[in-house]
Amino acid sequence: MSELNLILLGPPGAGKGTQATLLTEDFGLPHVSTGDMLRAARDAGSELGLAAKEYMDKGELVPDAVVIGLILERLADDDARDGFLLDGFPRTIEQAGALGQQLEGHERRLTAVLLLEAPDELVVQRISGRRICRKEGHVYHVDFDPPKHPGHCDIDGSELEQRDDDREDTVRNRLDVYHAQTEPLIAYYEERGLLRRFDGTRSPRQVHERIRATLATLRLEEDL
Ligand SMILES: [Zn+2]
Repeated sequence: MSELNLILLGPPGAGKGTQATLLTEDFGLPHVSTGDMLRAARDAGSELGLAAKEYMDKGELVPDAVVIGLILERLADDDARDGFLLDGFPRTIEQAGALGQQLEGHERRLTAVLLLEAPDELVVQRISGRRICRKEGHVYHVDFDPPKHPGHCDIDGSELEQRDDDREDTVRNRLDVYHAQTEPLIAYYEERGLLRRFDGTRSPRQVHERIRATLATLRLEEDL
């Protein structure tokens, strides 16, 4: 069976996390989220992990070379032998170029880049409407999944709050960064014939079915 080496791309709030979970369940691919990976590497204390820790402790961005080194280390693990699902990297054209080169050097290449598209206003509505209960972290949405009593958790009655990351101004800033830095990756991967687009406004289940169908076709083509 051919490998499924995938990148998940799209703005915040387009449903990447949900799709990653579903794809991991279906295809057994490890979800390599660079944020989680960096924290794990820092705590594990490998050579590269310690290098990353130095930058993270100072609140600085971890250099691309260190992140890519960690990704390649992670992809060498047994569970990533048949493929992986990379999320959160690359975010710029430079990173995409460096990652592609390094993968090639390790005799791997990308199978596809899965782009989840969603308009800004929907992203803002989805994220800024989230409310989390203080006690147990139960999640609500003021429009899509409101609690019975506004401001209070249905399960334990504790107060609901909005996380700083979910505030509208924060979301709009993240979208600005996405449009400026990450969106150019769409054309980059399109030129290389790797891009597959999915409508992130649909339900998670519908999006997942489309992705599954696309991956099945890609695998057939690769195995021919
Ligand atoms: Zn609760």
